[in-house]
Amino acid sequence: MPELPEVEVTRRGIAGPLAGAKVHALRLGKPLRWPLGRDPAAFTGQTVGEITRRGKYLWLPLWNGARADGGLLVHLGMSGSLTLQQQAAAPGPHDHFELATDRGTLRLNDPRRFGAVVWSASLAEQPAATLLSRLGPEPFDPELTAPRFHASLRQRRSPIKAVLLAGEAVVGAGNIYACEALFQAAIHPALRADRISLPRADRLLAAVRQTLGRAMALGGSTLRDFTDVHGASGAYQSQAAVYGREGAPCPRCGAPVRRRVMAQRSTYFCAGCQKR
Ligand SMILES: [Zn+2]
Repeated sequence: MPELPEVEVTRRGIAGPLAGAKVHALRLGKPLRWPLGRDPAAFTGQTVGEITRRGKYLWLPLWNGARADGGLLVHLGMSGSLTLQQQAAAPGPHDHFELATDRGTLRLNDPRRFGAVVWSASLAEQPAATLLSRLGPEPFDPELTAPRFHASLRQRRSPIKAVLLAGEAVVGAGNIYACEALFQAAIHPALRADRISLPRADRLLAAVRQTLGRAMALGGSTLRDFTDVHGASGAYQSQAAVYGREGAPCPRCGAPVRRRVMAQRSTYFCAGCQKR
């Protein structure tokens, strides 16, 4: 599943080339998770603005000359990947969205079709407003300080692993990154979030930032052509300390890494190093 680092790496790859691009045509394949919400012909002649990201959503603002005219909110779902091709071949069976521009063709390939491309008049209006309303703070938002993160954890009684996956205290700590950040912060994944002290919350936030930052750096180095959106987590996973390493020695103490299913997801941890 594409996680926040892959989405950010994708954004960095397409934002520069597409800023100021003129739309020739918007084409749709099979239905995605939600309908586009606007006549595809309405996009012809529009200009793409500066692409931004919120959580795992990308926002492609569109302009009619000097007038803002909403934009496209894009989510990669379970299996989506975006590519920008200069010489686009004919769409394949899993290409369900295409934005042909004078700077290349942006294409969404999504075999499982849980992804979405929806038009919204602005981020503050529907459907964007509802889709973004439940997202927690961005991990690298300077306003997300350790005391604020700690205060947010204090309100939640679920295991810290589940709280991270829910994305309400901070977005972006998907399963791999949640496991790795908890290991790095030496916090047991089953510990109740409201029992975590301020110094430990501080360490956890730093660990979340470090794991996500490292994945973005790895993705940036391996995704030059943006053809494989899963490359970032793949490259990161090969360097993981505990994720996917059940039975292997903990890199810190040598005890075997354990796996337990929590919140329906495989959780990897070291029972020796990660304290309740
Ligand atoms: Zn250990």
